[in-house]
Amino acid sequence: MHFVYVVINVLLLAGIIVLVGRKAIAGIFRSRREKIDRELTEAETPLVLEPLPPAEAPVLPVEEEVGQIRAESEETLRGLETLFEGDSADQRREMLLQTRNAVVEKVLALTREHMSTEEYRASLAARHGEAVERILSRIHLTPGDMSYLARTGRLYVTLTSASPLAPELVDKVREKATDMVQAAGGEISFWVRENSELLGGLQLRIGDTIYDFSIADKLYRLGKTLKERPVTETDGDSMISGMRKAVQDMELGIDVFQVGRVISVSDGICWLDGLVDIMYGELVEFVNGQRGMVMDIQPDRVGCIIFGRYDHIDSYSRVRRLNIMASVPVGEAMLGRVVDALGNPIDGKGRIWTNERRPIEYNAPAIPDRMSVSVPLHTGIKAIDALVPIGRGQRELIIGDRQTGKSALVIDTILSQKGQGVICIYVAVGQKRASVAEFAARLEQRGAMEYTTIVSATASDSASLQYVAPFAGAAMSEYFMYKGRDVLIIYDDLSKHAVAYRELSLLLHRPSGREAYPGDIFYLHSRLLERAARLSPEAGGGSVTALPIIETQAGDISAYIPTNVISITDGQIFLEADLFNEGQRPAVNVGLSVSRVGGAAQTKLMKQVAASLRTSLAQYRELATFTQFGADLDNATKKVLASGARMMAALRQDRFAPLADWQQALLIFAVSEGFADKTQPEDMEVFAADLYRWFQAERPELVEQLSTGKKLDAAAQDKLRAALSEFAEAL
Ligand code: ATP
Ligand code: MG
Repeated sequence: MHFVYVVINVLLLAGIIVLVGRKAIAGIFRSRREKIDRELTEAETPLVLEPLPPAEAPVLPVEEEVGQIRAESEETLRGLETLFEGDSADQRREMLLQTRNAVVEKVLALTREHMSTEEYRASLAARHGEAVERILSRIHLTPGDMSYLARTGRLYVTLTSASPLAPELVDKVREKATDMVQAAGGEISFWVRENSELLGGLQLRIGDTIYDFSIADKLYRLGKTLKERPVTETDGDSMISGMRKAVQDMELGIDVFQVGRVISVSDGICWLDGLVDIMYGELVEFVNGQRGMVMDIQPDRVGCIIFGRYDHIDSYSRVRRLNIMASVPVGEAMLGRVVDALGNPIDGKGRIWTNERRPIEYNAPAIPDRMSVSVPLHTGIKAIDALVPIGRGQRELIIGDRQTGKSALVIDTILSQKGQGVICIYVAVGQKRASVAEFAARLEQRGAMEYTTIVSATASDSASLQYVAPFAGAAMSEYFMYKGRDVLIIYDDLSKHAVAYRELSLLLHRPSGREAYPGDIFYLHSRLLERAARLSPEAGGGSVTALPIIETQAGDISAYIPTNVISITDGQIFLEADLFNEGQRPAVNVGLSVSRVGGAAQTKLMKQVAASLRTSLAQYRELATFTQFGADLDNATKKVLASGARMMAALRQDRFAPLADWQQALLIFAVSEGFADKTQPEDMEVFAADLYRWFQAERPELVEQLSTGKKLDAAAQDKLRAALSEFAEAL
C-alpha cells in the first residue's frame, strides 16, 4: 500500500514539473535555435564590407561598390555555405583559401578602381600638405645614408608625386631636407619627379629610405596583409571578418621602408646597390615578388642569393627590404611530406596547412639549457647499437666512401623509430632526384612517412637551395624539440652541402682557403650541428639527434671537410669500402668508429652483453691481418680467429631489417658465450633467425625480460644459458 502511494506521489510530482517546466525548457531550446540561426545568417553574409564611417578621405569602396562585391561574391559564398558538408578538412581549407584569394583580388581591384577616380584623387591632393608635414616630422638619416655621405659627400633626395605638387610644398621639403643633409656635413642633390605609377599621393626618398604616402603602396600593403593571413581549418568566419577589418583599418598613413637596386644578377647571385645597413640573413623582395637572402655585405654593395628563378630580375630594378629573416613553415603538418628547401611541398599531395614558421638560422641552446645524453636512440642495427651506441641529443657522424651503405644505414634507423616516439627529418642535399624519390617510397611502403619529413634540395636545384636545406631541416626539428619531443635529423650529405657553399662563396668573390673552401666553412657546419641538443626539462625537455653524413674520397678521413665535421660531432661511424666489398654489411669499421657518449646511451643489458665485444673484435682484426698469409697457427690463435669471424658474421645485417633490442642482445650473448661455435660464419643468418623464432615460441618469459633492457643478474644469466644450450641441442 505504502509503495502505491510513493508511486502516485512521484507521478504527480513529475506531472507538475512537466506542466510548469515545459515552457521554460521550450524557451531555452527556442533561444538556442534562434542563436544558431542568427549565427548561421551571419556566417552566410560575412563577405559584405560594411559602409565605412565617414573619414576625412574615404579610402575604401563606397556603398554601391560594396553591393557589387556582394553580388560578385555570391558564387563563392555559395561555396562557403556547403563548405562543411562532408568534405575532408584539406578540401575545406583549400576551398577557403581559394575563396579568400578570389575575394582579395576583387577587393583589391575595387579599391584600386575607387582610388583612381578623379574625385578620390582630388580629396587626396587636398591632404598633401598634411602628409608632407607628417613625413617631414619623421625624416632622419639612417646609418646607411651617413656612410654614403661619408664616402661621396652627397646624398640624393627625390620627391615623387602622381600629380604636380604645389610649389610651396616642394620648397618646404627641399628646405628641410637640405638642412638635414648639410647638418650631417654633406651636399644635397634634390630632385622632383612625377610618376603616374603611384596612382595618387606622394613619396619622398632620402638615400635608401622611402617615406610613402601613395596609393600604389597602400594597395601593395593591403594585398599583403589580406593574403598573408593564415587559413586554418575552421576559421571561415574569422578569416572573413579579419579581412574586413584589414580593409577597414587601412588608413592612408605614411609607410617607411628601404629599397636598393639590382646591380647585376648571375648564377643565382645578385649584387645590390644601397641597403648598406641590412643584416646578414635578411630577406629582400624583387619586383616580381621573388625573394632573396642577404649573404654578403661589403662597403659599397650587398650580395644576396636568390631563391628560385632569377631570369626575370633585371639590372637596375628595385629591391625592397622586408625587415624579416629567412624562415620556413614548421609544425605537425610537415610530417609525411616531401618539401623543398623553403618548405614548399614537392610531393604532389597538395598544400601544407601550417601557420607557424621558424627562422632558418637560430641560436643553439645555451649550456645551462642542455642536459647530458642518457636515453638511447635505438637504431635497430646490431653493429651500431652494440658498438657505437647513439643517444638522443647526440651528434654522430656517418662517414665513408661513395656507395658504402651510408644512406642505407640511416633509412634503417628511421624505420626502427616506428613506435618509439621519435620524429625523423631527412635532409637530402645534392643527391639525385631518383634516389630521394626511392628513399621516400621505401619509407612510405613501411609506414615510416607518418613521422618523417623529407627536405630535398637535389643536385638539379640551385646552390642557394642546397645551402639552405640543412638549416631549414634544423628549424623544423627545433619546432618539435622545444615542444619536448625527440627528433632525429639526418643531413645526407654535408660534403655536398660544403660544395654548394663553396660555389656560393666563390661567386660572392670571397677569398678561398684550403681545398678552395671559404674560411668560414667550419663555422657553417658547427653552427648547424650545435643546434642538436638534449634540453633540460625547464628548457623544453626535447632532443634533436643529428646524424650528418660525409662522403670521403678513397677512405681519406683526414681531408678538410671530414676532419672539420669529425671534430664537431660526438663520434663517428666509419664505413669502409673494403669491408663493404667483402660482404661485411653494414661495413662498420670497429677500430675507427667511436661514440663519445658511449655506454651512457645504451641500455644496461646491451652494455653488459657487449662489454668486451669491441676489444675482442679489434684483437680479431689485428690477428686476421697478420695471419692472412696462411702461416702455421697454434690452436689458441685459431680459436680467436674462428670466434672473431663468427662474431663479424653475426654483426652482418640486411637492409630494411631493423632488430629489436632483445634480439640484438640475445644474439650477441649467444655468440660470445660460444653457443654458435658449431655454426659456420656463412650460416649465421639462419642461426640468428632460428634463435629469435625459438625463443619467441619456447621462452617468451625470457624474451620479455630481455625486452626490459635491464641488466641480467647471475640467476638470469644462468637461465639464459640453460635455454641457449637447449636451443643449441635442438638445432
Ligand atoms: P652514395 O655515396 O651514392 O650516397 P651510399 O654510401 O649512401 O652511397 P647506399 O646508397 O646506401 O650507399 O648503398 C649502396 C648500395 O649498397 C645500395 O645498392 C644498397 O642496396 C647496398 N647496401 C647498403 N647496405 C646494405 C646492406 N646492409 N646489405 C645489403 N646491401 C646493402
Ligand atoms: Mg647516399
